[in-house]
Amino acid sequence: RAKEHGNTFRLYDPSMDTKAYERMVLETDLRKALEREEFVLWYQPQINLATMRIKGVEALVRWNHPELGLVPPNKFIPLAEETGLIVPLGEWVLRTACQTNKRWQERGLQKLRMGVNLSMRQFRRDDLSDTVASVLAETGLDPADLELEITESMTMDLEQSLLTLQKLKGLGIQIGIDDFGTGYSSLSYLKKFPIDRLKIDRSFVSDIGADENDSAIVNTILLMAHSLHLKVTAEGVETEAQKEYLKSHGCDDAQGYLFSRPLPEGEIEQLLRAEQVG
Ligand code: C2E
Ligand code: CA
Ligand code: CA
Ligand code: CA
Repeated sequence: RAKEHGNTFRLYDPSMDTKAYERMVLETDLRKALEREEFVLWYQPQINLATMRIKGVEALVRWNHPELGLVPPNKFIPLAEETGLIVPLGEWVLRTACQTNKRWQERGLQKLRMGVNLSMRQFRRDDLSDTVASVLAETGLDPADLELEITESMTMDLEQSLLTLQKLKGLGIQIGIDDFGTGYSSLSYLKKFPIDRLKIDRSFVSDIGADENDSAIVNTILLMAHSLHLKVTAEGVETEAQKEYLKSHGCDDAQGYLFSRPLPEGEIEQLLRAEQVG
């Protein structure tokens, strides 16, 4: 049976398992999804633990697939990386996130930090800082209100990474290390890299209180980060006990289902308005 996807016909092999079939559909459709404007950004609030107010949001991409519905990033970001589509997609994410942040400010809402995830392919491109500079110029967003998130594993080439980060910092933006604690463990780079923030990976946060070792890791990250004058965001905060622990140990910001799931732009706006009133 031939199934039509756009203008290409493919043979559907019934012996193909559902996963392989789904992947094939995704790969074909992914290429067209950008022009068809099928991607959307949702935003997850980041709460300052001292004030309990929203300090920032992280932009998280979803794919509004015409047949499959809302597809989570874990299902297509790796594919987008493999195919190279992550480069134009990542630029779309960056531009859309900056536009949205600027629009919220123009509507009189509080100034927020906008976190945007970078992928390895984007981070390795020579034109990354030019792209970021032109998006900032185009959207008029204050560079200080943009925070790019990279992971430790992207920085294996220390010298090249240092150069890239220095160029990005030169634009006046913020840089955060995502999923901190899960990558390779050369900590010397922390001192050398011009970074602003560590985001403690959810795997350490989830066992706070339950697992003594994970609490020790969280404590150590907080002490080390603060002695290097870095801010810390805890990811995946789901319980009041985790929040209290993080707060009493000086963690700056927190993000997680306890406060809010990622939400569409309009719902974030409502949250911000409610916060202004209350
Ligand atoms: P991430 O950057 O670590 O983003 C945090 C993920 O944790 C998000 O999943 C978020 O919905 C989820 N999360 C937040 N709070 C909680 C919590 O309390 N409990 C649990 N269990 N999960 C929580 P999401 O949106 O599915 O994104 C998954 C990953 O996809 C992201 O992980 C990031 O690596 C990647 N991603 C998302 N958007 C982009 C993007 O625009 N570009 C790139 N390159 N990667 C992206
Ligand atoms: Ca992230
Ligand atoms: Ca993360
Ligand atoms: Ca993660």
